[in-house]
Amino acid sequence: MVLTVSLRDEIDEWLPELVETRRDFHRHPELGLEEVRTSGIVADRLRAIGFEDVRTGLAVTGVKAVLRGGRPGKTLLLRADMDALPIEEQNDVEYRSTVAGTMHACGHDGHTAILLSAARMLYARRDEIPGTIVFCFQPAEEGRGGARRMIEDGVLEDPAVDAAIGLHVMSDVPVGNAVAVDGPTLSGAHGFSVKVQGSGGHGAMPHKTVDALLIAAEIVTTLQTLVAREVNPQQAAVISIGTLHAGGTAANIIADSATLSGTVRWFDAEVGDYLAERIPALIEGIAASLRGSAEVEYRRGGRPTVNDPTVAATVREALAEVVGADKVLTGPPIMASEDFSEFTHRLPSTFFFVGSRDEASGIVAEHHHPRFDIDERCLPLGVEMMTRAALHWLESNAEN
Ligand SMILES: [Zn+2]
Ligand SMILES: [Zn+2]
Repeated sequence: MVLTVSLRDEIDEWLPELVETRRDFHRHPELGLEEVRTSGIVADRLRAIGFEDVRTGLAVTGVKAVLRGGRPGKTLLLRADMDALPIEEQNDVEYRSTVAGTMHACGHDGHTAILLSAARMLYARRDEIPGTIVFCFQPAEEGRGGARRMIEDGVLEDPAVDAAIGLHVMSDVPVGNAVAVDGPTLSGAHGFSVKVQGSGGHGAMPHKTVDALLIAAEIVTTLQTLVAREVNPQQAAVISIGTLHAGGTAANIIADSATLSGTVRWFDAEVGDYLAERIPALIEGIAASLRGSAEVEYRRGGRPTVNDPTVAATVREALAEVVGADKVLTGPPIMASEDFSEFTHRLPSTFFFVGSRDEASGIVAEHHHPRFDIDERCLPLGVEMMTRAALHWLESNAEN
């Protein structure tokens, strides 16, 4: 077995560099497809570790590195995302973002630092590794199709990848715990925008108008009946309206038009397909029944992230070695979405979560919040989890 009890000592040796790498990324956040500095550092570090096969420029700013082990075996992809968010940081910390209006508010700075350290650990063991590891540092997880672009640019080919593992820090889970679910772990996401057209007029003469505001209000409330009455109650679905604009100039003017937009989440593909059909139909029907009209722009976004139970079981063994079996949770799934789903859709894969919350030091803000931060004790845990997960999976799929 390639695993040694000294793994943790070895990580601790590099701990200051691991923390400083994460803080450096945190100070210099870059938005999706603009991760020029970040990916430059990633490629330089990989080459400094000794990687000979480092490819840059996939998906504009993505990096792929290939580690060929000394023994025959399968090919495993390990993934980190590198992008930040358009949020002004409100944390008062030494490593606060130096870029106005941009912040690592999802923890991708930590993911990139963790995977770089895991790459170092695995490189040091390359002679004993049965198979090949592809390190995938992807851009633009937060909405600009980073994973899909990496796949289009060949991250799953040459060598052909057999399975994928990724991680995410998790602000809901106390540091020292981990989560690896069987089956759906994150939801699929669709979005839609609606323009309602009525016919405005005097507030005192509604019979001469078609009230776009009233139509929009009907749409907002009646959409919820899709979840309440048309989706199997044993299956989860969410429809949330995030914006609604109508009227706006005076209390006695009936709105001529209205706009609204929303998001749709689900786990089962059939539920997603059903809602994609029913939401536009229901909106158009409501508008027509009230003598107006509605134009619906429906966007099919990411798929659910669905873990392969066999890979997940192997990952859980690795997580248990790091934090103990009682600290490895198996659920519940979360209604957020991730483009790691592009990998789970194509390959047996697992996406696991590393707890990063610490009530005592006030690190409790949600992801995408201007006060989001991670308890940095999750970093070495993440490195050991990723390293052990990779070694476990390759060993359990070794050819001899
Ligand atoms: Zn995010
Ligand atoms: Zn994220």
